[in-house]
Amino acid sequence: MFLKREIYLDNNATTKPRRSVVRVMKKVSDKIFGNPSSLYQTGYVSKEIIEESRQIIASAVNAMPEEILFTGSASESNNQVLVSLFEKFSPVKKTILSTLIEHPSVLQTLQYLATRGAVVKYIPVDEKGVVEIAALHSMIDDDTFLVCVMYANNEIGILQDVPAIAKIVHEKKALFFSDCVQALGKTAVDVKNLEVDYASFSAHKIHGPKGIGVLYVAKGAPIAPFVHGGHQETGLRAGTESIHNIAGFAEAVKSLPRIKNKRSKILALRNHFADGLQKLAMNISINTKLEKSIPNTLNVTFNGISNTQIIALFDYYRICVSAGSACSTPENKPSHVLTAIGLSDEKARESIRFSLSENTRRKDIQYVVSLLKKMRDGKTPVLSMLAPSFLNESELFNDENYILDVRFWYDKLKLKSLPGSHEASLFRFGRYLRHIPKEKNIIVVCQGGVYSPIVVFYLKKKGYTRACFLMGGMEGWKSAYPELYAEYAGKNIVKLER
Ligand code: PLP
Repeated sequence: MFLKREIYLDNNATTKPRRSVVRVMKKVSDKIFGNPSSLYQTGYVSKEIIEESRQIIASAVNAMPEEILFTGSASESNNQVLVSLFEKFSPVKKTILSTLIEHPSVLQTLQYLATRGAVVKYIPVDEKGVVEIAALHSMIDDDTFLVCVMYANNEIGILQDVPAIAKIVHEKKALFFSDCVQALGKTAVDVKNLEVDYASFSAHKIHGPKGIGVLYVAKGAPIAPFVHGGHQETGLRAGTESIHNIAGFAEAVKSLPRIKNKRSKILALRNHFADGLQKLAMNISINTKLEKSIPNTLNVTFNGISNTQIIALFDYYRICVSAGSACSTPENKPSHVLTAIGLSDEKARESIRFSLSENTRRKDIQYVVSLLKKMRDGKTPVLSMLAPSFLNESELFNDENYILDVRFWYDKLKLKSLPGSHEASLFRFGRYLRHIPKEKNIIVVCQGGVYSPIVVFYLKKKGYTRACFLMGGMEGWKSAYPELYAEYAGKNIVKLER
């Protein structure tokens, strides 16, 4: 049942860089090192690469090169639009309209702007995530300077009617920004047809490199620098340009016409997957509106089964999936997108996002369906878990228990460890197995109960039959026993890792 090859179904988190992208980036890193601002040939060559790349990306989305601004990520692009427009319009106009299903780089920037006096209002979405246009009509007013609605959602894949939204926004003389990160390569993105004033893009979602984004700013639309202190990008983004990343982005964009031909294959595979899941009779609900979504995304609630268990089991079988936005996973918070479309916290915690790519094969999908069938029939390893309330004072100091804390250093800055914990981070604990006794109850602890199930499956494979994980992790235990935390946390820690 175990695979040699990993099945990667988390392409909305990131994609594998295309070989041609890696080749171009290697060549540029190797040979073209000049600073694009330098006044000699070596610098001009770098500058030429930037400008050629800008041209390629601009024409792929029907923009003009001067409307394309390179940034360090789409998160930065999103921050730049929101912050710079707030600073331009406030205090004369203060209202921004958005939705509760945006990416965290939009939502958290809006929350920050609200602390600075912005009035942020959220346009409702229906149970499939479609923006309610009638509500937008009634909410937009003369105080609204910006409306921000993403084109394709990263968790459930819903596509919005961006031109219809843009029309309403422009009638009210406001500006319109759409995060197009998940739309690029999965549906047509023509900034003129979409009638957006701003759009953000990210290379690593289209088989390009990480750490490079684009902000489209329509000619004449206001924008201000976000990173200050340099003349690069016409003064709108200081910092020596990441030439190899820019070249890699353009190379990935060049392949988009090829992906376009594969969209129908991806769509057919995704729909075949949805069919296969429904036939399993597993009490599932599909959260993706199949007929109005990007073709690669399928969000599913497995009623009654926590998503951390499924993710850990899948990891055991080398299948990569996620619970939602990669940016929100470590904390075990329910997905904000799923709760915004009406799922309870509990149901959101039972949901998994599958995101396919052109590399996904039919047999990958069949394998996943057959694994779920095994899980349904109780033929997969069982994940033992411990409720935080179980770990009372006597269990905490029970010699039969061995607490293995696999948290990262930064988690430990926020919360101290359980008394008597043996500490080795998630990446390294495997090196210290000789110190971990097989005959004890191994209680694996992480911050929010998200990573520890993966460790438990690993330990079971290595013969630790009594391994279990602490549900809710340190966060859950601290809320269950605040007085025990105050008295004992951080005491008698054994560091396995030197
Ligand atoms: N917007 C959406 C819809 C995304 O899915 C992501 C990445 O997950 C981003 C923005 C952020 O992109 P980046 O990783 O380039 O910051």
